[in-house]
Amino acid sequence: MKEELSGIYVCSICGVENETLVDPSAGVRQTYVEDCAVCCRPQVLTILIDEASGFVAVQAEFEG
Ligand SMILES: [Zn+2]
Repeated sequence: MKEELSGIYVCSICGVENETLVDPSAGVRQTYVEDCAVCCRPQVLTILIDEASGFVAVQAEFEG
């Protein structure tokens, strides 16, 4: 697997697409908070990595 992966998520507040960098060594399922690059609201990201394809699925929820 590559050392670094990236995934795309849509901000749950402003609807803009953000790219997040994911470190696969932290596990195939990760949760962390990242601020939207546009509206700066914190998003709770749930990351699911498909190890076979390297595809990263990202679900974003506003930390409210
Ligand atoms: Zn936003």
